[in-house]
Amino acid sequence: MNRFKISLEKKTSRSYEVYIGREILDRAALLVAKGNWAQRYFLVTDDNVAALHGERVADTFRQAKLPVETIVIPAGEPSKTIATAVAVAEELLRRGADRTAGLIALGGGVVGDLTGFIASIFMRGIPYVQFPTTLLAQVDSSIGGKTGVDLPTAKNMLGTFHQPKAVFADLTFLRTLPDKEMSNGLAEIVKCAVIDDPGLLELLADRGEILRTGDDPHTLLDVVTRAGEIKKKIVEIDEKEQGLRRILNFGHTIGHAVEAAAAYAIPHGEAVSIGMAGALSLSERLGHLPTTDRERILTVLKRMDLPVRMPASLNQEGVMAKMEQDKKKAGGAVHFVLLKRPGMPFVNGGIPVERIRETLAALRT
Ligand code: ADP
Ligand code: ZN
Repeated sequence: MNRFKISLEKKTSRSYEVYIGREILDRAALLVAKGNWAQRYFLVTDDNVAALHGERVADTFRQAKLPVETIVIPAGEPSKTIATAVAVAEELLRRGADRTAGLIALGGGVVGDLTGFIASIFMRGIPYVQFPTTLLAQVDSSIGGKTGVDLPTAKNMLGTFHQPKAVFADLTFLRTLPDKEMSNGLAEIVKCAVIDDPGLLELLADRGEILRTGDDPHTLLDVVTRAGEIKKKIVEIDEKEQGLRRILNFGHTIGHAVEAAAAYAIPHGEAVSIGMAGALSLSERLGHLPTTDRERILTVLKRMDLPVRMPASLNQEGVMAKMEQDKKKAGGAVHFVLLKRPGMPFVNGGIPVERIRETLAALRT
């Protein structure tokens, strides 16, 4: 089992450990018991994960003498709403939860973000622990304390920062994860490698497809740990996303616009992969990034079976329009994370619209 600590400034009580390994549930339950963060726990999960892993996790908790009850929400993004948060909070109250209760998020990003959100506001805040079950959640959303729900018109519009007490990423959960969901996580791992760890990029270039199939447990553990550590480093420096944390948005400016323009029919990881191809192309066009570096990263993405071109079905002006909407939210500029070299990203908020159009057009050929 690998572990690293998220050390947050000023209040060490907010710092927490991230554990990554295989078959770590027993140890996780003991660590939760030892942490003594709450007197009883409510395990929040979705109906898919509940059927596959819910009982096993709840049993492990009971064996560690931790009182635990389960609350199940429907799987999928439509559950990530204030209405679900209200329903879960009502259920908590109905079952007698008070300030001494703690939540356990068992699931992907939807369950993690929603559970963290509820934990941050229920009775002005109760503790929670993350048990991420998707690759995406293990390397990304479970670390850093961002919580939230969607509005009908925009994702993650209501949210808080509320750090978990601990994160337990058991890689054996991934055995039941559909291939498509693996790709989502892999895209985010490539992103971490590109912005901060050229060595990891090399490893992915060598072993990319092996990772995708999950046949190489050792490399998977190594890669998930390294990606998590990159997120750790960035979150520690910039917890509230005022500066450096922005580089985690590499590939996301175009990626988010692609997702939205496709009405979320394109999974996040694929959209981000297309977005990374766009950011790389833009970096090259503006004279920052050598062609060979761009090509090398594209090869890694393709090895992961991730798309690097704009789907023909997507209308370019639709994607542009979504970026214009984001621009308004961000105070009048479309911010791009660009690259000088692997490991050397920078933020540019002044790219002419024509350049962006040109780049999107090039992503079709
Ligand atoms: P994310 O934002 O992490 O991609 P979601 O919470 O939307 O995730 O999860 C994606 C889908 O995968 C959901 O349908 C969820 O129920 C399902 N899922 C999550 N973890 C597992 C798992 N370990 N095995 C199978 N399906 C899973
Ligand atoms: Zn992302």
